[in-house]
Amino acid sequence: MNGTSVIYPLANVNSAMQELHLESGAGIYVSGNNGRRYLDLNSGLWNVPFGYGDEGYTAAVSEQLSKLHYINMISFSGSAITDLADDLIDFTNNDFEKVFFTCSGSESVECAIKIARKYMYISGRKDCRTILTMDMSYHGTTYAAMTASGMDSDETIEYSPLNDKIEYLETPFFPYGPASPDEQKKFISALEKRFAENDIAAVLLEPVMASGGIISLPDWYIDKLTELMKKYDVLFIADEVATGFYRTGKAFKYYDLPLKPDILCLSKAITNGIIPMGAVLVNNKVFKRYSEENEYINHFSTQCGNPLACAAAEKTLSKFTDDIIKNINLRSEQFRNGLETLKNENANIRQIRIEGLMIGIDIIDDDDNPLSMDELNCIMSCALQKGLLIYVFKCGDRCSGVTLMPPYTISENETSRVLKILNEII
Ligand code: PMP
Repeated sequence: MNGTSVIYPLANVNSAMQELHLESGAGIYVSGNNGRRYLDLNSGLWNVPFGYGDEGYTAAVSEQLSKLHYINMISFSGSAITDLADDLIDFTNNDFEKVFFTCSGSESVECAIKIARKYMYISGRKDCRTILTMDMSYHGTTYAAMTASGMDSDETIEYSPLNDKIEYLETPFFPYGPASPDEQKKFISALEKRFAENDIAAVLLEPVMASGGIISLPDWYIDKLTELMKKYDVLFIADEVATGFYRTGKAFKYYDLPLKPDILCLSKAITNGIIPMGAVLVNNKVFKRYSEENEYINHFSTQCGNPLACAAAEKTLSKFTDDIIKNINLRSEQFRNGLETLKNENANIRQIRIEGLMIGIDIIDDDDNPLSMDELNCIMSCALQKGLLIYVFKCGDRCSGVTLMPPYTISENETSRVLKILNEII
């Protein structure tokens, strides 16, 4: 064999997409087997905000490795697990009551959907099974999470039957300016009509739709959703797998919403990509119901709560110093200014969407249509040629462009250099 035994995820099985092999990393750079060094503007896949080769992580994980590297959570616990759960709750300022550990973002979403449906069941509301999500959202690849990913619904039909009773709400996406009063009215009455059926268990939202193209829901829509979730006593699941841990400049993006989530899904940055981990946090309302009914959560993975992952996650929680948070917000402004200038000079850039260090550059072709996947791949390889790892998005025929999730430690000079290169590419 010559290294061709791998099937790569989300790629045609015949394609040899991954031509570049990465062999080492230091800080915000990774190096390939071609001898070249690349600035990782993706932060891994949005999960390595503190870069590579951080000795603090090496020390924390090694120390745990020298003590105990696995605990079977069905039968035992350990201080690595209990300390991290306590610290995660503190990190949310006690907005949540308990933590359930998983191994990935998809698994967190999967587990959250189960928790919500069973919550309704044990609350005597057995007809409330439906999960509402946005049609431009992404929530993962396990069955319920894949079904919930509205942006992929054309493709996932090939894997049917999908999870039952997961429905998409049309995303109010207005890249050319705010929605008119008539458009708002249309969205609001569709929401009111849907909620009136009284069969909804939970609304599952990404506070910023990441894979769909860095899209936030407008305030008038969120306000209406909030009103209806309260009126019909529907659970709110926030999928902060991408937005969590300061990606948007705040610890969590739900801080900006008028309603706190009942269930919070986390993963990605939690361990800086060192060891897979996810977590589902539940608030007092959800926990209390399970507790009063003496109930359990029918979900488990052998590796959940892995102590090495816990050690890495503890390290992550300790890294949000004032300086880091300041850098996230300063670099966000620098990107915003640089990219807005770029937009003003380039008619193919339709919109710049930035939340902290979560950046979407919405690009259209000369006929105002989203770019094809070939065109987007071309932008990606052009960036690669110039030493930048970037990512692209395509959400059906609604939008396409470049996604940047820069590491939190990127400097002012590096940001200037990146902006200059992006100018050349786009
Ligand atoms: N939810 C969101 C918002 C995500 O961005 C992702 C990953 N891109 C997931 C869930 C799935 O996470 P994972 O790939 O770790 O399963």
